[in-house]
Amino acid sequence: MLTPEGDFDARSRAALATPALGRAVRGTVDRLRNLRAIAEADADLTRQRRAAATEARTRAIDKLPELLERFTRNCEARGGVVHRAPDAASATAIATSLLRKSGARRVVKGKSMVTEEIELNAALEGAGIEVTETDLGEWIIQLAGEKPSHIILPAIHKTRHDIRALFEKEGGTPLDASTTTLCAHARRRLRERFLAADAGISGANFAVAETGSIALFTNEGNGRLVTSLPRLHLVFLGMERLVENFADLAAMAEVLPRAATGQDLTSYFSIITGPRHRGELDGPEALHVIILDNGRSRLLEDVAFRPVLRCIRCAACLNVCPVYAEIGGHAYGGTYPGPIGAVLTPVLRPEEHAARELADASSLCAACSEACPVGIPLDELLILQRARNATLRPKRALRLALRIALSGLMGDKAHGTSRRLRFVAKVLGAGTPQRRALAKVLPMLARSEAVRALPVIPPQSFRELWKALQAGENTRAR
Ligand code: SF4
Repeated sequence: MLTPEGDFDARSRAALATPALGRAVRGTVDRLRNLRAIAEADADLTRQRRAAATEARTRAIDKLPELLERFTRNCEARGGVVHRAPDAASATAIATSLLRKSGARRVVKGKSMVTEEIELNAALEGAGIEVTETDLGEWIIQLAGEKPSHIILPAIHKTRHDIRALFEKEGGTPLDASTTTLCAHARRRLRERFLAADAGISGANFAVAETGSIALFTNEGNGRLVTSLPRLHLVFLGMERLVENFADLAAMAEVLPRAATGQDLTSYFSIITGPRHRGELDGPEALHVIILDNGRSRLLEDVAFRPVLRCIRCAACLNVCPVYAEIGGHAYGGTYPGPIGAVLTPVLRPEEHAARELADASSLCAACSEACPVGIPLDELLILQRARNATLRPKRALRLALRIALSGLMGDKAHGTSRRLRFVAKVLGAGTPQRRALAKVLPMLARSEAVRALPVIPPQSFRELWKALQAGENTRAR
């Protein structure tokens, strides 16, 4: 669900009116962009890696029903249990029922956008189950009562001082705002939760069909504690996150960390195949995988938007987006911000008008498509979404409104140049003060000028130049 506080326009205006937010977001995305540029500096190698990853993801999406079957068979053969959830309500109901049956009261969670998508924490807490996020950024926003504002850095909009205030409130002791103190505090508090947890919940970067394994790329080590310490492990898997085999997983490992954080590989790369087996020292007694559809089957049927299913949630498109850098993630109102959110959210939630309008949150510079390691043509899809939006608008009303606007401006000469239009062009071309004066009577112009400068209109129009040119030629001919 999109957040109810205003529409995209109102939320982005509120974000723009908070300069500290823009500074925090810009600083971090600039750093990530530079790290990615270093990691992908070898253009030929990057092209090869991206081609291999794109091929593997495209093949997986083309064979998705078959791979889901194979994954289920292989995961269950190794002791896991696989559940299919058509929507958010059924996914949260399956998790709640499994936790209740096992008597779990306290849960530790790793970072997972899919669980954000289905609002799992609220559902579990409603059922009386205590949930602690253990990814540092996720824990920060959980304490703040917010949603993530970036796919891989959920607390990107928070400063050290914001975090200190949250930690002091949570722990009841004064802290300094150094990163060493703040990290030590988080480590100590979260360690207590890990040791007391009855169950762990994680997402999955990928699921490998040939072995029924779950692959996790993490940097904080919390993923390993969540998945191996408690007696029960629930995995939430977006239905599209399948790869066929380990060779394809290796292709993903070549692009995901580089595109996300500029690392050759994340600090921890875990492959989980079933629960703890006899003779093994660690791991949960039971492992359940909940595979979420929630609109993905619809996306699979949509030929134009199908490439979106290739997304590996690296967030590279957010880090290069000039719109995201100014407004941060909360302005998008949904789970997935930035260009991928603007493309994905309307398809997952076609009934929500506010979701469709996110396609306007782009300058169409195409930096997102260039950054995407699996070749999703985000800018083209944004244009396509805008075209779809246009067909949904009431055409007759739009045509009537346009006719009224044009006749007001041009009189009855829709293809000629009326005196009124020439007058408006002259005023706009005369300079900023004149434009401001005109903006008072044309509110549409005022709105546009408030966020960007209109291009300078030359003092002489094309028609005037053409007339002068022809007059010169006629004189020469004589
Ligand atoms: S659309 Fe591409 S760049 Fe954006 S998150 Fe997905 S994979 Fe990464």
